[in-house]
Amino acid sequence: MLRIVVLGAAAGGGVPQWNCGCPVCRAARDGHPELRSTQASIAISADDAHWFLINASPDLRQQLLAAKQLHPKPGALRHSPIAGVVLTNGEIDAVTGLLSMREGSPFTIYAHARVLAILKSNSIFNVLSETMVGREPIEVDQPFEPHLPDGAPSGIEILPFAVSGKGAWYLEGRQHPGGADGTGDTLGLRIRDKATGRHFYFLAACADVSDELKSRLAGSPLVFFDGTVWRDDELITAGLGSKTGKAMGHIAMSGDRGAIASLAGIDIDRKIFLHINNSNPALLHASPERQIAESAGWQIPADGTEIVL
Ligand SMILES: [Zn+2]
Repeated sequence: MLRIVVLGAAAGGGVPQWNCGCPVCRAARDGHPELRSTQASIAISADDAHWFLINASPDLRQQLLAAKQLHPKPGALRHSPIAGVVLTNGEIDAVTGLLSMREGSPFTIYAHARVLAILKSNSIFNVLSETMVGREPIEVDQPFEPHLPDGAPSGIEILPFAVSGKGAWYLEGRQHPGGADGTGDTLGLRIRDKATGRHFYFLAACADVSDELKSRLAGSPLVFFDGTVWRDDELITAGLGSKTGKAMGHIAMSGDRGAIASLAGIDIDRKIFLHINNSNPALLHASPERQIAESAGWQIPADGTEIVL
């Protein structure tokens, strides 16, 4: 049995974002605390005792406080059920939480060589001593089984695959520490419980739904999918930014080539948007955009949502 906890559902900045006065952020600050959301990450476990994080968000400390499953076990002076962190990209909202895990507990970081190169090139990540916190490269189309701190198998098989996306924003126009080839900057994951064979997909960033991706996702019990923006030009029209969703490596929810339309005919039991930006009107429970998403079978999760697969 695979357990999944949505630690956070928001895109970079969270909801509300510290410096944002958009309608969603205003409402989240004042009168609608249910709109508050931390930056996207999920935790998974096949044995209910050892957990793996998929990305480590800047809000990790708050997320761990809220998730009882991830507390140290009773009676232990120092302990964490977190056995590892799998990184799907090198963005701030995926890697910064690692810095909150620096207190000498053993775990393993699994990431593509390009993302590991980014960590290596930033000396601040040296707070995670490599003798205590191993860094293991993962490869596109190569399934792997993350292990527990004592080396025992976790019972979880993870298959990373390339999806259309962008490299980390802060590296734009700079030399990527992982070299010029962009493959590996954005990964999707298929996560499978080895005992039951049940699986789900995790794509917190995806710029485009290809035919190949459609066939990959068909027949899946559960898909977490990039829900950053409702409209591609949403940040520009709202006066919040100068980039389209596409330019940031994120498909829009709406539109002919958006996520809702692209995945409409695909057989997926449960579709959940993740990595939702505070500019996205679908976050507002009574908005027409929310109704469109929900009637198309999509869910927008609250932080802390637990799913058993
Ligand atoms: Zn906002």
